[in-house]
Amino acid sequence: MIFMNYIRPAMLVSLAGVFAAGTVLAQDITLDDVPRHIQSEVTDVWEPVPVSVDAPEGAPPSDAIILFDGTNTDAWTKASEGGGAIDWPVSEGVLSIGERDIVTAQSFCDVQMHIEWRAPAETAGFDGQDRGNSGIKFQRRYEVQILDSIDNPTYVHGQAAAIYKQYAPLVNASRAPGEWQTYDIVFEAPIFDEDSGTLRKPAYMTVFHNGVLVQNHVQLVGTTSYVGYPTYEPHGCEPILLQDHNADVTFRNIWVRPL
Ligand code: MG
Repeated sequence: MIFMNYIRPAMLVSLAGVFAAGTVLAQDITLDDVPRHIQSEVTDVWEPVPVSVDAPEGAPPSDAIILFDGTNTDAWTKASEGGGAIDWPVSEGVLSIGERDIVTAQSFCDVQMHIEWRAPAETAGFDGQDRGNSGIKFQRRYEVQILDSIDNPTYVHGQAAAIYKQYAPLVNASRAPGEWQTYDIVFEAPIFDEDSGTLRKPAYMTVFHNGVLVQNHVQLVGTTSYVGYPTYEPHGCEPILLQDHNADVTFRNIWVRPL
């Protein structure tokens, strides 16, 4: 075995006593050559040291980009009509769906995202995809579904926490309509060949719904289309979209961490 990459200066000092008789090349050292009291250190890794992040209870981590903290919608623009200020109202710290889809002003590739959402308490007259529908589309294309999925049958890869029309959630961790729910999502962006545009690495998603793992690093097969089979089209980093699907879904506490 070769331990060359793992030898620390402190260890070399210890080893110097063992091999004092001659010059020692690190690649010549095997575990049998190392004194027993420091054998466990052979596989220790000390660098690089992870950067410190403050992670206070009930608040975003210190390195998060805040997309909505209850005060304003500065991080968002209209998804169409050339952008501009959004027509989604903010009241008492809560963002409500207004006119049309919105997107983050900033583009993202790989991200960790936290978002809290609430489907309307009133469900009468709304069924299936019409009950509490919204969604988070990473890079405008890859949707984690938002839906009231309590006693509301629909196609299973279109219920809450589904990767829309690709993956049903592993379990239905939904709370009652009118209650706040959380998604914690890891999105790995697809990678395309710069010259040919062909897919080099597909997108992956991991989703926790109300703290429950519901998508475990699933491999996306393309854009989450309503009609037709998913396909990939080449693109770079893109904004995150929140969907207006004609339901009175509300949001709070939205943040991301680029990865
Ligand atoms: Mg949707």
